[in-house]
Amino acid sequence: MKPPVCHFCNRSLDSVKSRRAKAGDLVQFADYVPLPPGMCGHPHGLEWFCAEHVDAARALSRMRIDEAMLELKAGHGALRQPSTNGGGPFGRWLRALRRYFASSDRPPPR
Ligand SMILES: [Zn+2]
Repeated sequence: MKPPVCHFCNRSLDSVKSRRAKAGDLVQFADYVPLPPGMCGHPHGLEWFCAEHVDAARALSRMRIDEAMLELKAGHGALRQPSTNGGGPFGRWLRALRRYFASSDRPPPR
């Protein structure tokens, strides 16, 4: 199973959960293919959506995932870029990099 990151805006549902009660959910699309029994991974056609996009995604769940994503992009304009100082995997990665370079226990430069 993929980590809970919105398939549309790449926002981490974990970071939203701490600020809002409703964090989003998994949405199953028309081309959903369940994993075979005993198989690990993420099934095709099943994606996470944040609270902001989960209702729009559910409304399009009778479509294939690729069609639904085109509809979502058309409805929401340009794909929202994750902010560098907010939540989301990219923001966390940047903060981890800043912590690393601010810490004194990294190896000295050559
Ligand atoms: Zn989203």
